[in-house]
Amino acid sequence: MKIMKKLLAVALMLVLVLGVMAGCSSGNDEKTNDDGTQQKETLVMATNAQFPPYEYYDGDKIVGIDAEVAALIAEKLGMELEIADIEFDSIVPGVQQGKYDMGMAGMTVNDERLEQVNFTTSYAKGVQVVIVKEDSDIKTIDDLTGKKIGAQQGTTGAIYAAEDYGEENVTTYASGNLAVEGLKTGKVDCVIIDNEPAKAYVSENEGLKILETEYANEDYAIAIAKDNTELMDKVNTALEELIANGELQKIVDKYITSEE
Ligand code: GLN
Repeated sequence: MKIMKKLLAVALMLVLVLGVMAGCSSGNDEKTNDDGTQQKETLVMATNAQFPPYEYYDGDKIVGIDAEVAALIAEKLGMELEIADIEFDSIVPGVQQGKYDMGMAGMTVNDERLEQVNFTTSYAKGVQVVIVKEDSDIKTIDDLTGKKIGAQQGTTGAIYAAEDYGEENVTTYASGNLAVEGLKTGKVDCVIIDNEPAKAYVSENEGLKILETEYANEDYAIAIAKDNTELMDKVNTALEELIANGELQKIVDKYITSEE
């Protein structure tokens, strides 16, 4: 009987000690707010860092408009920003499955994605444009019929091109960079891609130009899991503040010099 009591006491001690330890260790990735609620410390943003000037590498650091805006959002939320660089078409499923807190990648709001995730307030406009070789016989959008079109897989550029010109005419690449390589080596006749990365690719590569006629206009926003309404509210509040106080524009101006 005595032994049983002792054992029981030891077991009780163990439970207590473990309980205390568990309480402490939760400080690793969660912290307690003033109001006693638990808050996660890291805000994990999924992106595809091959999309200048929104996200790209400067050395081994991911920089760009999205990276900087996300850092300010995280700061407002009292969280640490962590950026995961993944394939573009893995971002929406990853956010949907809760692997990442948010997806920010110059990402266009469209119906297909809205079935899987929610989007914040839009923070930028995107324009789909067409890159061709300088001596191309493609002069306007109307000349695209029957041409070989390159685009980045999973992007709206690739989706629209397949709808408008037939899937058999569209070659998709893992990145915009590779699509532009495809154009340079003559595998495709043009590349449909967002305006800002298009400008970056054209300035980095000789002999390319952007058609003056725009292909499509769209809104960029941040993707968040449908069930994560708490984060959605917080991010929207932070983002709307950054839009209202001009801080977001300041970041945009740092990366994009307007031609006007
Ligand atoms: N805006 C395009 C889209 O959302 C491309 C984004 C990207 O390549 N990062 O599909």
